[in-house]
Order: sequence, then structure tokens, then C-alpha cells
Amino acid sequence: MVTPNREPSLSPVDGLGRALDHGMTSTGVFCLNLRIPGPTPCPDEVLTASARQMINHRGPEFAQILRRVTDGLNWVFGSSNDVLSFTTSGTGGLEVAIVNTINAGDKILAVSIGSFGDRLRSIAKTYGAEVDSYALEWGEAADPDEIGRRLDADPSIKAVCVTHNETSTGVTNPVEAIAAEVRKRDRLMIVDAVSSMSSIPCPVERWGLDVVVSGSQKGWMAPPGLAFVAFSERAWAANAACTTPRFYFDAAKTRDSLAKLQNPWTPAVSIYYAMDRAFEMMRAEGLESVFTRHEAIASYTRARVKGMGLKLVPVDERFASNTVTAVWWPEGVDAKALSKRAREEFGVVLGGGQGKLEGKIFRVGHMGWVSQRDVSDALDVVERVLGDAKAAG
Ligand SMILES: *Cc1c(COP(=O)(O)O)cnc(C)c1O
Repeated sequence: MVTPNREPSLSPVDGLGRALDHGMTSTGVFCLNLRIPGPTPCPDEVLTASARQMINHRGPEFAQILRRVTDGLNWVFGSSNDVLSFTTSGTGGLEVAIVNTINAGDKILAVSIGSFGDRLRSIAKTYGAEVDSYALEWGEAADPDEIGRRLDADPSIKAVCVTHNETSTGVTNPVEAIAAEVRKRDRLMIVDAVSSMSSIPCPVERWGLDVVVSGSQKGWMAPPGLAFVAFSERAWAANAACTTPRFYFDAAKTRDSLAKLQNPWTPAVSIYYAMDRAFEMMRAEGLESVFTRHEAIASYTRARVKGMGLKLVPVDERFASNTVTAVWWPEGVDAKALSKRAREEFGVVLGGGQGKLEGKIFRVGHMGWVSQRDVSDALDVVERVLGDAKAAG
């Protein structure tokens, strides 16, 4: 059972946003109610594990850890090929996906429903891909039929790039249905699952996904530092024909080193310690239970927010995310001042809006090591600062 050890949020913090009586981790670090959608809070056990002394990253002890962590990744991704890990953030993982499968001049269909979809499209463009852009209004989810139509209209499209869970708008794309359209036409399916994998079901083989990316600081209960990338057999075939320049992020090199239970370069050893411990906790809880916990907390969050009279950013609630809830601030409030008060007086750190949503929405992250109490505490504070602002006129 995952039960973060924090005091109620409606307790005081000092002016720097340091909690006066919030929970303290075993390593003595103050623990605010960090509700941004990554990095997310880590359990004490994971933080303690990550503080272990260094070992030889080419020695037998690290080999065992890398094997266990890779087994854990394969389990969560639903992959029979070993999932690769890279020392980088999620964006680095997206770059791995592109530079190892897409050649300059290749045509891709870039599906974007928010800022992370835009980012994946930008990476592909940076490396010379020719991009057909299917961009939706922020708050909407992509339509699998429209993707099918676009693929039929242009047989030269080699790959479809899509965000599974769009963290900027709190919308989860119907990736299983999109993948079915892509598979029917035998194109490559590249998926940003950075903020979904491990929290929302995304079985890569069952759904027929080809390149799938995640990152340690989102739903994995670990600090930032590792990105995970799964490659299907089709993706490896594309990789063999891919001549895009790459060195550090060479997937084949990483796969060949993994066969010797090493990384080509010095990896973030401490984050492997953390992931190793986090997998023990996930296995104890069970993957299905992890998914249902996220589902339950997310539906609680949405009900509570709507009960406060606030509006969700997702246009169709069926596509609302189970890892992050995006909410419109009411018209006329000073969003920045309210977030500041939540953080400084109550120790609740909300996510803001990105890009064109800056100052218009707030986001409540609920992925990884999270309980309903974390969210209810945070929303108590949102209710309080909104109520006070309203009373003040
Ligand atoms: C967080 C995130 C990323 C990667 O961000 P980094 O800051 O590079 O780790 C990419 N895509 C999505 C959907 C994300 O939520």
C-alpha cells in the first residue's frame, strides 16, 4: 500500500515555502505536497536506496541491478524484447526514438494535442523529417479514424508520432485504437508514454506499438535521470536502415551493451538503485492495483474539481487523464498569486499551464507515489485560496 507520510496541507509553512510541520523524509528533506506532473514525490525507501555508495558500473553487482530493472521495465511495458534505458530525461528518450528510426526526408504524421505532441514533432523536424501535422485544439483527443484517413491519403507516411498522455492538457489519447489504424496500414507507431507508462495501461506488444518512451521521474516513483525506450521487431528493422547521425543515443549500441549487462556509457547508477527499489514496491502492490489506484484517485480529483464549480480542460471527459488533471482557473482570478499562496502558505505545489495555457489553468499531478489524501489536501488548499480571493472581491 502506498501511503505518503505527510501532514495535512492546511498546516503552516514558513515564507520560503518550507513546511513547518509537513512530513519529513528519512533523509531529512522537507517534503512539500508536490503536485506537479513530474518530477513526482518518491517514497522514503526509494530515496534511501538512491543514496547508496557507488559501485563499478561494469561489475557483477551492477549487472544484477541492470537485469532486475530491465525485467521490471519489460513487465510494465509488456515487452518481450528488453526495454532499453538511457541516462537522460524523457525528452532525451524522444530523441532516441527519432534518431534511431527516422531518416532525413522520411515522412511522418505528427499527432499533437498539446505541448508534448509539439515537442515530438519538433524533434522529428530537427532531424529532417518531412512532417504532416495533425494538430488539435488543446483539450481535445486525437481521432483514430482521421489518422486512418490521413494514412490512406498518403502511403508515403512512414511513421505516426503520438503522445499517449498529453501532460500539458490532461488528455489521454486513444492509443490502442490509433495503433489499430496504424497496424492495418503497416506503418511505424512511435509513442510518447512518458507520463502514462506504469500508471495507465499501455502494453506495447498487445497494442502493436513500435517505439515507446517513458521517464523515471513521472509514474515510476523515482527521481529524474533515466529514460526508457522499447523497440519492437519492426522498429529494429527500421533502425537497421536508419542512417541519422547519433552517438550517445545509439539504440543498437545500447542493446549490444545490455546483452553484456552494461551500458555503453556511465549510467545514472543512483537512479538504477531507485528504480530497483521502486519495482519491488510496484510488484508488491501489483500492476493492476497500481492502475486502479490511479483511476480511482483521478476520478476522485475530477469529481471534486467539478464539485467546486471548476471546469476541466479535457473537452470530453472520457479522455481525461488518470495521471494529471488540468483545470481552468475561474475568469478574473490572479492565477499566479493563488498558486504562490498555495505554495508559500500551505506547502502545496500546483502545476501551471504551459505555452498558451500559462496563467489560465492549473494542473494537479497524481501519478506514481500518490494517495487520495495527497490530492484531497491539495484541493482543500485550492478551495481555500479561491474562496478567500472571492471573499476579498
Ligand atoms: C515530462 C514529459 C516529457 C519529457 O520531459 P523531460 O522534462 O524531458 O523529462 C515528455 N512527454 C511527456 C508527455 C511528458 O509528460
